[in-house]
Amino acid sequence: MKLLIIGAGYVGLVSGVCFADFGHDVICIDSDKSKINKLNQGEIPIYEPGLQALLQKNVAAGRLSFSDNLSEAIADADAVFIAVGTPSRRGDGAADLTYVMQAASEAALLAKKRILFITKSTVPVGTNRKLKEVIAKANPELDFEIASNPEFLREGSAIEDFQKPDRVIVGVEGQRAKKIISEIYRPLYLRDFPILFTSLESAETIKYASNAFLATKISFINEVAALCERTGGDIKDVSKGMGLDGRIGKKFLHAGPGYGGSCFPKDTSALVETGQIHQIDMLITQSVIESNERTKLRMIDKIIDLAGGSVEKKIITILGITFKPNTDDMRDAPSLVIIPALLKSGAKIKVVDPKGYKEGSLIFSSAEWYEDVYKAAQDSDMVVILTEWNEFRALNLSKLASVMNIPAMADLRNIYNEEKVLSNGFSAYDSIGRKSKAI
Ligand code: NAD
Repeated sequence: MKLLIIGAGYVGLVSGVCFADFGHDVICIDSDKSKINKLNQGEIPIYEPGLQALLQKNVAAGRLSFSDNLSEAIADADAVFIAVGTPSRRGDGAADLTYVMQAASEAALLAKKRILFITKSTVPVGTNRKLKEVIAKANPELDFEIASNPEFLREGSAIEDFQKPDRVIVGVEGQRAKKIISEIYRPLYLRDFPILFTSLESAETIKYASNAFLATKISFINEVAALCERTGGDIKDVSKGMGLDGRIGKKFLHAGPGYGGSCFPKDTSALVETGQIHQIDMLITQSVIESNERTKLRMIDKIIDLAGGSVEKKIITILGITFKPNTDDMRDAPSLVIIPALLKSGAKIKVVDPKGYKEGSLIFSSAEWYEDVYKAAQDSDMVVILTEWNEFRALNLSKLASVMNIPAMADLRNIYNEEKVLSNGFSAYDSIGRKSKAI
């Protein structure tokens, strides 16, 4: 199959590389020329484990290339994947479909032979039907079909998720589209990974409903964690005890500083907005959004309490600013709410993050950046663990305490426990969902 991917971001690039690895001929295009130039020089514009090696392998095999020339790239394509961004629209939180519509009509205008449009971007229910009209209007002569193929990969484990998915969801109408998609995903089908064919509307809904459900699990456990802090009980035990129930499952029950990232915040907002358009109140999702905002604010209070009521002139070392480990993505990360609040309250901020510097240093321009945790913590009044990078999981706690001014730790990912931290020279420790004795 000859495939064209429009949008070489987290999803487009990973999909393009993995489809090439399946054996297809893939061209990735992006409107950002600097991204394409970098890719053509073998540079990866994002951090994603394993991506560089797989990309190089498939470029070398002649199956993968990058271009900014849509007209040339679409000439031979059997199918075009749309993998451009669908950010939150300012004002109402609906999905901004400008890039999707633009990409589809640009491709439609230039396509000369029969082609299948496949939407990989996350788009609200009804969008693919609108896209059909947009494509037909842009090029009334074009013979085309449309399919909805939402993506479920997670940043940080994107290659593995793409190559070994829990399921592939495909919304289609005609048999021909189904045949092409089946051919594209044949390597997965042969290995018994489930491929579920549905209507366009069901496929679109599955994506939003899945993300909203996962966001609900996280917010639920964060609320239970807040209750444990008041009442006693350890949220880690509570999560474990709940997760052992097969109906609940143990995943997405880790209490923390609130969910962030490129998907959950915008997709939950868009789902609520879609509900409003159709006069259905998405009450649960609405509460999840509010609960998540409160969780982030609760973290700020926690840090201030641990600092004795004020962080003014306090030196705080933040460990991790990306929304989760193994990515450089900062979109909607809890750090974007927590760090500005601490700065506003007069704290001095130092940061250590293995991959967050490139973007984070532009956002937190007054912060000091370090590669080494112990150098960063020198003379600090507190360390705050915000993202659970592996590098922060086995810190030498006594060494850390010894270089700090006031050794206090806010462990917002529950990596450590109070006894261990205090017995290594810390004077104060707080975590999530565990009643602290030492504040
Ligand atoms: P991204 O911002 O990383 O990448 C989007 C790319 O599209 C950018 O490089 C941009 O320059 C390019 N682009 C925009 N308009 C274009 C056009 N007309 N022609 C060519 N290129 C164009 O976004 P992403 O994180 O890859 O997300 C893409 C979609 O996938 C979104 O709808 C998102 O919700 C969904 N998704 C993302 C993830 C994730 O973990 N990032 C997971 C599943 C689904």
